[in-house]
Amino acid sequence: MLAEMRGRILTVRGPMDPNDLGITLIHEHLFFDLSCYYHRPRDPKGKKLTNQSIKLSNLGWIRQNSMNSIPNIRLHEDKITVAEVKRFREFGGQSVVDATSVGIGRNPLGLAKVSARTGVNIIAGSGYYVHPSHPKDMDTRTIEDLRKEIVSDIAEGIDGTGLRAGLIGEIGTSWPLHPNEEKSVRAAARAHNDLGAPVSIHPGQHPESPMQIIDVLREEGVDPHRVVMSHIENRYREKLELYQKLADTGCNLGFDTFGRDQFFASAGRHHPSDDLRIDMISALVRSGYSGHIMVAQDCCFRSDLTKYGGHGYGHILENILPRLRNKGVSDHDIHQILVENPKRFLAFQ
Ligand SMILES: [Zn+2]
Repeated sequence: MLAEMRGRILTVRGPMDPNDLGITLIHEHLFFDLSCYYHRPRDPKGKKLTNQSIKLSNLGWIRQNSMNSIPNIRLHEDKITVAEVKRFREFGGQSVVDATSVGIGRNPLGLAKVSARTGVNIIAGSGYYVHPSHPKDMDTRTIEDLRKEIVSDIAEGIDGTGLRAGLIGEIGTSWPLHPNEEKSVRAAARAHNDLGAPVSIHPGQHPESPMQIIDVLREEGVDPHRVVMSHIENRYREKLELYQKLADTGCNLGFDTFGRDQFFASAGRHHPSDDLRIDMISALVRSGYSGHIMVAQDCCFRSDLTKYGGHGYGHILENILPRLRNKGVSDHDIHQILVENPKRFLAFQ
C-alpha cells in the first residue's frame, strides 16, 4: 500500500480527494492506437479507402469497417482531444478514466495537457491489453517483471514522465485465456495487492470469461469490490442473471460502450444497443444493484468523436440520462452511478 495514497484518487496531475471527483466516465480512451487490430482490406473498395482521412463520403463505410481504416484507429492530436473533452465538461462532466494500457497508444503527456486545458480530472491506466498488442518478448517476461512495471507506473510515473497511473488496466483478456494474458492478470493482482490501486478488466468475448478472470483474481487474493469488469453489456447482453451473479461477487459492472452502434469486428457480431444497456441498468437498479454500476462510452475510434460525426464523450450526459429517468431510474441512483461508485472504486485502499 502506498501510504500517501490511502483513501485518495491518483490523477495525472497528482493525488486528489475523492470528494472532488464528481461526474465520472469509468472507461474512455482520449488517445489511442489500435494498430494491433488493423486488417488490410483485400477488396478494391477497402484498398482505396483504408488510408483516406475521414469525410462524410466514407464515414458510412468506416462505421461498418472500423478496424480497416488507419485514420480511424489512431488518435494522437492534443487539440482534437481537448475540444472533445470540453464537450463532456459542458454537460457537467468532471472526471475521465483513460483506460488505455500499454501497446494501444497510451499518452501520459497528452493526458496531462488535456487535463490542464479542460479542467477535467484524468486517471491514467497501466498494465497490458489483449495479446495481439503485447511486446515481442512477452513470452519471456515473468509475472514478477510485469508486476514491477505496473508498480513503477503507479508509484514513480509512466515512461520516465513522472506522470503516474491511477488505475491498473484495462487489463486485456481473451477467450480462451492466452497464457501471456494470464500472466498479465496475475501481475495486475499482485500490483494491486502491493498498492491498493483499482483494477479494470477487459474480458474475453465469451460470457464465461468475466467469471473466469474473477476466479484468477480471487486466487491471487483480490477482493472483487476493487475490480470493474469492462464492456459487460457486450458479453452478457440481455441475460440479467449473469450480471447479478457477477455483482454478487462484489465486482463492479462497467456499462461502458454507450453510443456504440456498429458491427463489432473482433467478435463477429453487432454491438448491443443503448436501449439494451438502459433496460439492463434499470432492471439492475430495481433489483438492488445500483451500487455496482458505472458507465462510459469507450470512445476509441476517430469516428466516435463529434468532430467526425460520432457521439463523443458527452453522449451519456446529453442523451442517456433522460432515457434512464424515463425508465424509472431516480436521480439518486444516477448520482450513485456517475459519482458515488467511481469515488469509492477509484480511491486507493
Ligand atoms: Zn477500452
